[in-house]
Amino acid sequence: MTVHFPFQNSYSALPDSFYARVAPTPVAAPRLIKLNRPLAVQLGLDPDLLETPEGAEILAGKTVPAGADPIAMAYAGHQFGQFVPQLGDGRAILLGEVIDRDGIRRDIQLKGSGPTPFSRRGDGRAALGPVLREYIVSEAMYALGIPTTRSLAAVVTGEHVIRETALPGAVLTRIASSHIRVGTFQFFAVRRDTEAIRRLADHVIARHYPELLHAKRPYHDLLAAVVARQADLVARWLLVGFIHGVMNTDNSSISGETIDYGPCAFMDAYNPAQVFSSIDEMGRYAYANQPRIGLWNLTRLAECLLPLFSDDQEKAVAEAQDILGAFAETFSAAYQAGLRKKVGLFTERDGDEALIQDLLDAMPKNQADFTLTFRKLGNAAGDDGADVRAQFMDPATFDEWAARWRARIALEPQSAAERQAAMHAVNPIFIPRNHRVEAVIQAAVKDDDYAPFEELVKVLAKPYEDQPEYAAYADPPLPDQRVLQTFCGT
Ligand code: AMP
Ligand code: MG
Ligand code: MG
Repeated sequence: MTVHFPFQNSYSALPDSFYARVAPTPVAAPRLIKLNRPLAVQLGLDPDLLETPEGAEILAGKTVPAGADPIAMAYAGHQFGQFVPQLGDGRAILLGEVIDRDGIRRDIQLKGSGPTPFSRRGDGRAALGPVLREYIVSEAMYALGIPTTRSLAAVVTGEHVIRETALPGAVLTRIASSHIRVGTFQFFAVRRDTEAIRRLADHVIARHYPELLHAKRPYHDLLAAVVARQADLVARWLLVGFIHGVMNTDNSSISGETIDYGPCAFMDAYNPAQVFSSIDEMGRYAYANQPRIGLWNLTRLAECLLPLFSDDQEKAVAEAQDILGAFAETFSAAYQAGLRKKVGLFTERDGDEALIQDLLDAMPKNQADFTLTFRKLGNAAGDDGADVRAQFMDPATFDEWAARWRARIALEPQSAAERQAAMHAVNPIFIPRNHRVEAVIQAAVKDDDYAPFEELVKVLAKPYEDQPEYAAYADPPLPDQRVLQTFCGT
């Protein structure tokens, strides 16, 4: 039996300027290390067949399955604010698209499958560490309920990639509702190819925003829709303590999914200025800067769409500014509503925002763990709050705040059990903590031991459920386990 991929490709039917046709480069000895079986089923693929040697060859790019139309997508992008007119998939190849069980079109992309015409200096390959990191974190985000690309499989290639040292090579199979980015629009805008921008916008509307197909001003509404999805996405990141790390415009998805997991990380202790990425020297992509950068990226998208708005440049700019103006409000509404849920409020009252802000302000000074503070606050809805109190270096600070919080929740009719359940449903106990991710990668790279990876993936699949046998995974790092920096480590 051969593995059947029910491809229905649409992007590769767009004009030639949108991509380069290129096949993956075969590798020596592919070995499947992880298959996401439920996701395979969701995509209409047979997981048993994907687990055969032939399946591993496909997932490593050694064999191209029937119906695939492999391409590297063209895009440009602002990297740390600097515009690069041509980036493109330098180490990723889109095999094709399938329609999943929910009727949603999904890209199947191999990341680390060899050079493409867009590979600049790189080898088109990926190292095992970053592949495992993306697998773990993207699947954790999915389980948290945050829009994201997903991971179908990880294979080791049997070859080494040369970075600072020789590292085992790997390929990640990434699934996205599309890989179209702000940078895809920028690629055509910098070339003043308005017809291509229109083709791309039409493709995006049909694919991601079909409700706009018959809109009076479809391109204006497209910008508004992307603004809304990105504002909501960034709010969700903040609410779980996620730092993307490289919010370049080429890593900013038009569908509103989290994409391109590089030096991303979840914070342990709450610190709005937190940066982990070794290459983010200026803190451009710090935790609390993410909303501002989200809007900056969308402003670049708006610039690309101006020629579709109106021939009158001034009018087009005014319209774009008007649409971008909604970002702040949409973000704030999502963020504040999320915070209210995190502290267990069912209703909205004057003073709520200040109450919550006072908690957030107290946390950094007390080195309070972001995840555990909110999770244990849920317990405090039904007990004396000893656990959440213990998150604070100076527990008296918490006591003062808790007295106000208890007075506020007492105004609502919900029982303690109801409130706790509602809080636990939005405050995860398990997040992919850096020290855990690093330990898992070390075991795989140094000892070829994937048991820790398997266990971490399993725990993170149920982030909102207490899993007493895995309680240690909820713990923040000990001082000597703390990971201070993360690396792009391609
Ligand atoms: P990223 O940092 O993953 O968003 O990548 C930025 C750009 O560098 C993209 O165009 C990538 O395709 C390219 N790139 C990153 N790593 C490699 C590599 N190992 N080989 C070729 N191109 C790469
Ligand atoms: Mg990228
Ligand atoms: Mg990348």
